[in-house]
Amino acid sequence: MCGRLLGRRIEWHHVIPKSQGGRETVPLHPICHRAIHAAFGNKDLARLYPTLDVLREQEEIAGFLKWIANKPPDFHAPTRRPRP
Ligand SMILES: [Zn+2]
Repeated sequence: MCGRLLGRRIEWHHVIPKSQGGRETVPLHPICHRAIHAAFGNKDLARLYPTLDVLREQEEIAGFLKWIANKPPDFHAPTRRPRP
């Protein structure tokens, strides 16, 4: 999602949440995965943001992507709102 290389640790994200019937998964950095679920609930992900392209355009995620862009692949930090 963020365009960085994947590191040693990856997490599989259901683009449409499993609980909403989604099957397709994509590999994400754990921190990116966490950012998505911190920003949106499963129902909203399924109804409003069913693709990564749509997610990237949301303000919460766009801010995160800017912040994470120059971090190394295995960078991790406690999830928090990215600085504006
Ligand atoms: Zn990422």
